[in-house]
Amino acid sequence: MTAKELKKKYIDFFVKKGHKKLPNVSLIPENDPTALFISAGMHPLVPYLLGETHPLGKRLVSNQKCLRTVDIDKVGNSTHHTFFEMLGNWSLGDYWKKEAIEWSWEFLTKKLNLDPKRISVSVFAGDKDTPRDEESAKIWRSLGISSERIYFFPKENNWWGPVGETGPCGPDTEMFYDVTGKPHGLGCQPEDGCGRFFEIWNDVFMEYDKTSQGKFNLLKQKNVDTGMGVERTVVVLQGKDDNYQTELFTTLINQIEKISDKKYRGENKKSMRIIADHLRAATFAIADGVTPSNIEQGYVLRRLIRRAIVHEHSLERDPPMLVDFLEAEYKLKPVVNSIVAFYQNEYPHLKKMSANIDQEISEEWKRFGVGLRRGYPALVEMKKKSGKVINGKDAFHLFETYGIPLEVTEQMKPVDRRGFEEAFKRHREISRAGMEKKFAGGLADHSEEVTKLHTTTHLLHQALRDVLGTHVRQVGSNITPERLRFDFTHPEKLTEVEIKQIESIINKKIKANLSVKMEMMILAEARKKGALAFFGERYGQKIKVYSIDDYSQEICGGPHVSSTGKIGGVKIVKEQAIGAGRRRIYAKLVTSD
Ligand code: ATP
Ligand code: MG
Repeated sequence: MTAKELKKKYIDFFVKKGHKKLPNVSLIPENDPTALFISAGMHPLVPYLLGETHPLGKRLVSNQKCLRTVDIDKVGNSTHHTFFEMLGNWSLGDYWKKEAIEWSWEFLTKKLNLDPKRISVSVFAGDKDTPRDEESAKIWRSLGISSERIYFFPKENNWWGPVGETGPCGPDTEMFYDVTGKPHGLGCQPEDGCGRFFEIWNDVFMEYDKTSQGKFNLLKQKNVDTGMGVERTVVVLQGKDDNYQTELFTTLINQIEKISDKKYRGENKKSMRIIADHLRAATFAIADGVTPSNIEQGYVLRRLIRRAIVHEHSLERDPPMLVDFLEAEYKLKPVVNSIVAFYQNEYPHLKKMSANIDQEISEEWKRFGVGLRRGYPALVEMKKKSGKVINGKDAFHLFETYGIPLEVTEQMKPVDRRGFEEAFKRHREISRAGMEKKFAGGLADHSEEVTKLHTTTHLLHQALRDVLGTHVRQVGSNITPERLRFDFTHPEKLTEVEIKQIESIINKKIKANLSVKMEMMILAEARKKGALAFFGERYGQKIKVYSIDDYSQEICGGPHVSSTGKIGGVKIVKEQAIGAGRRRIYAKLVTSD
């Protein structure tokens, strides 16, 4: 079975069981500054898991693209990616363990026809705070799983949440497939990292609310949240034991073999896997509007691309100096093109952005060369001056100033990795603090015109997405009393018709005199005590969220008009390119008739 067939089967199966299909949203979380990327299918659902009513109902299903930066160091093994797709089904206060587990089993054994004898499961063992999850174990037994294939593990393995100190949490039950088919009970077991048992699916049961006194009370609304990894499940369906040997990766691996004139075996495997994985993640990130930079998502993208390049270089026969390699011909194009070709039907925005994707990666290759040439003396100096290990702060400085990635510095001498990550975190906090100052309303000019134009940018942002598509993302804006300037991601020039449509939507929303409301939220509190912190660091500052009726909702510092009618009218005066995949619009206020 191919990945495409698996995804279709999964969605169809749960739709038949009364689930509504959710859209596969951008990798960049909307209105969630605590996380850089969507890391699980449940991520866009957090507010609903915490009790908000979902417009599509209580049973939901999706295939969602995810990017996990926390797994970056695992990439190179046979099971972990940065970018991957996750299938999931949810019950928001609706069905519970029995249905969830029975459907998981039915899907695995009846729809995917996996051999029941090769499936093992794990459930929560219980501890002093919360009981053993006998309920789940009993359901598994009733389905015919023998006791020796039901493993009881502690919180460390079989528990989800809460995210901060308090809030929703609960046990989970994970499903593993034995890729060897050897008699059960010999050798290793699930979770021991021996590579025999592939964890393919996880059903999480959010049933407790942890209080600040450390007590676990039963939740009023119990939810089921599941996640199945597409890449891993396809592997077991095809009787293989390596994520890189299915149709999702074989073309890429073949391309890399050709470019490097090496075979996918032995020592080369790890580098080839990293190149394929990272370029896939980079392709999807760029398609969702990220460009390489030294901050936020751009930093992650830069690191992914440069790591892929470093590994490509390491595969060379008699490798030239990295600097010389970078100044010679750009080599990754065939791999990038194959990724786009493979996914373009399912993800049309990839095709739309394909020229930009290739351009961004090739430009990053060049910039890497220029930076390395400039920074090389500093790197050599650092090697000389440091002790046995280069400290993380210094290594980060090399990255920040010259774009020299950790992996390159490490080729000189070992680096304190933890220190490097900490330096990045600090750097991130500083740039966040800057952003939040802006959010807090630090605009220099609060004149009437500026206020009107500020609300207009929100209408414009949403109107652009309505007309051009949801790949549109704001990348900058600047407002003076005379005009607004708005930068966003989009691969091509806007047509006259599109500009008129956008303008007309904005003016309609102005005529409708929609009310503009602001809510202050401490992020941690706003989504029930830090639920979002699961996905990244937590920022204590208050954040303002502005809503224009139900048309637009954005985190922003304001100031804004109290209702859109006050804007009067708007005209788009200019539209132009400002770089690969980026456009700029100028608009001004006009008096309404
Ligand atoms: P693992 O312990 O293997 O890292 P996990 O416990 O982090 O997995 P979950 O967070 O429960 O995984 O995610 C649900 C499913 O998504 C997993 O069962 C697996 O199939 C898939 N998955 C998770 N992380 C990755 C990854 N880095 N690459 C590919 N698939 C993944
Ligand atoms: Mg994990």
